[in-house]
Amino acid sequence: MSIDLLDTPIEFLKGVGPKRAELMRKELGIGTYYDLLTYYPFRYIDRSRFFRIAEINSDAAYIQLKGKVSNIQMVGKGAGMRYILTIKDESGTIDLLWFQGINWIKDKYQVGTELVVFGKPSLFNGRFNIAHPDLELLSEYLSSPADPLHPLYNTSDKIKQKGINSRVLSRMAKSLVLQLKGIIPESLPASLIDEYRLIGREQAFMNIHYPTDMEMLGKAEARLKFEELFFIQLRLLRYKFTRSMKVKGVVFAHIGDNFNSFYKEYLPFELTNAQKKVIREIRADMGSGKQMNRLLQGDVGSGKTLVALMSMLIALDNGYQACLMAPTEILANQHYKTISRFLGDMNVKVDLLTGSTKTAQRKQMHKLLQSGELHILIGTHALIEDTVQFNRLGMVVIDEQHRFGVEQRARLWGKSETPPHILVMTATPIPRTLAMTVYGDLDYSVIDELPPGRKPIKTYHFYENGHEKVYNFMRQQIEQGRQIYVVYPLIEESETLDLKNLEEGFEQLEIIFPKPRYQLSMVHGRLKADEKESEMQRFVRGETHIMVATTVIEVGVDVPNASVMVIENAERFGLSQLHQLRGRVGRGADQSHCILMTGFKLSSDAKIRIETMVKSSDGFEISDVDLKLRGPGDLEGTQQSGVMDLKIANIIRDEAVLRIARKHAQLILEEDPGLQMEKNRRIVAQLNFLNRNRTDWAMIS
Ligand code: ADP
Ligand code: MG
Repeated sequence: MSIDLLDTPIEFLKGVGPKRAELMRKELGIGTYYDLLTYYPFRYIDRSRFFRIAEINSDAAYIQLKGKVSNIQMVGKGAGMRYILTIKDESGTIDLLWFQGINWIKDKYQVGTELVVFGKPSLFNGRFNIAHPDLELLSEYLSSPADPLHPLYNTSDKIKQKGINSRVLSRMAKSLVLQLKGIIPESLPASLIDEYRLIGREQAFMNIHYPTDMEMLGKAEARLKFEELFFIQLRLLRYKFTRSMKVKGVVFAHIGDNFNSFYKEYLPFELTNAQKKVIREIRADMGSGKQMNRLLQGDVGSGKTLVALMSMLIALDNGYQACLMAPTEILANQHYKTISRFLGDMNVKVDLLTGSTKTAQRKQMHKLLQSGELHILIGTHALIEDTVQFNRLGMVVIDEQHRFGVEQRARLWGKSETPPHILVMTATPIPRTLAMTVYGDLDYSVIDELPPGRKPIKTYHFYENGHEKVYNFMRQQIEQGRQIYVVYPLIEESETLDLKNLEEGFEQLEIIFPKPRYQLSMVHGRLKADEKESEMQRFVRGETHIMVATTVIEVGVDVPNASVMVIENAERFGLSQLHQLRGRVGRGADQSHCILMTGFKLSSDAKIRIETMVKSSDGFEISDVDLKLRGPGDLEGTQQSGVMDLKIANIIRDEAVLRIARKHAQLILEEDPGLQMEKNRRIVAQLNFLNRNRTDWAMIS
């Protein structure tokens, strides 16, 4: 049978038709047989057990009971009208309520009718009732008992009004599975199915939609989770394999003068062990003949810039140029200065190219790049403009990669005949499991150690009535020669309002910290680049005491003398953002402080975020909490990874399955990189099916 059968439009399923199909597609994203097959129930209810009415003590779950109608009432008028059926069993009574569809229900049952009731109790005025339950005559129930595990499917209000509720979806799914019986292709090799005692694919689809019992449901879930994670990993690793087979990398065979003299004479401190380890990994990649695609993760302040610089020096030692790309002009500037300072009087020519580089300068730079006299170019997006041509580009470093799209990275390749080695750096720690998926096609290095002598930043939470205390504290710190950041949220949808907040905050601070004793700077996204830069520079030079800013300073800015970070409306920031902001202080020798200001009303999530920040300074721990709060969908970089499309597996809970799936994907590709062996035939068919509508990113990273 052809696998394309699964792509049959859903309207052809019995009982669907064009109108319902359109609704299902629009509202639920179910357009084909396959979509419905993989539209899994979100929960199951055990219908094999009847509750006694007196036993009901929680509104947490759906329950089932049976009893006789003991009273029927119509209460209220117009929009407030309710229809109430009271049900009685040997233990007590409970009211069933209808607010809608009253005309339909009102004459259906009489006092004395025996019913099976199925629904979710809620507590009202100290009594449980059930609104809009499912009802069935006891006699009917006994003649054909319902499936023991009753699946619940997500629906939308709109589609429910048109009569497609969870029950109807359940019926559709069931009839589809029965119709496809015997023709759903297996997608996993027999060896894997055996090794992990997985059930077959068809059986899994059946039991996920109408389980025979709990045990089979568990097996169906296990099988489908494995399949889902396995194919995501296989696809990612395949990109990696294909790339490493087809794409030759520049070989950097030796370490020369630049690297060595920098290491011996210019490096102002000892590298941390983690930095050394990562540099070794990078060296190994660069010498291997394969093109490096490596992700470098390291918490804020862990010293990634230095690793980047030393990697670039290796490129120079082998006669190649290097470039470093940063997401903002401020950052590019800063990298330029840091790197120039590190290099001192070494014979390495570095320059800076950003949107505000003047044309004449730019032309000069282009010339030097083409002739090879310019060794390291640092910049923003301006770097990927077409007119920039290198003589021999061998190494590209991308800082804070989540701001660069896959396509932008791809354009860098065009800058050189052989694709350059790529090092992507990120300070947004993400849990390992997620990294395996989001960056599953990149090699992965981590700096898990901070340079010695860093004092942990002290973090406090104040409600808005604590401002007075905070101002006093700020004054003390300024007396001691420290500098301070005050950050306001700036979130796009309410940008004008936020800007007003920021400006009002600034005005207030100007009153509390009056000139000439105190000097303030302000930086926000609406300023022109050169204004931003000059305000920033005043702060960097220590001419201003307080930097009032939006999150534009979130990434990478390095002012060691700044020791206090005050975050206003901290409840509006995400965890990783708070962590990034906090990372702006604690860079010098002094004790640093982070103060989170919030309103009195905090959502439960906001409370957890604030508590986590106060309690922990470990980026990986924080990212774990973040992932649990938000789910993977909101994390940067998840869009292309398939995490977003997960239908049954859970990146947090199913870590063990993920690891096994990845291991096997790896083993299979090592043995059969082209997937040409007979035993991998099923895998290829399924991959082709999954890839049928997909752009191939295989050559890009
Ligand atoms: P990030 O990883 O956040 O980009 P940076 O590269 O900006 O971190 O480094 C943070 C600070 O730590 C810088 O001031 C840098 O000079 C310093 N630093 C980096 N490596 C070391 C080290 N091994 N020992 C001491 N200080 C270091
Ligand atoms: Mg950095």
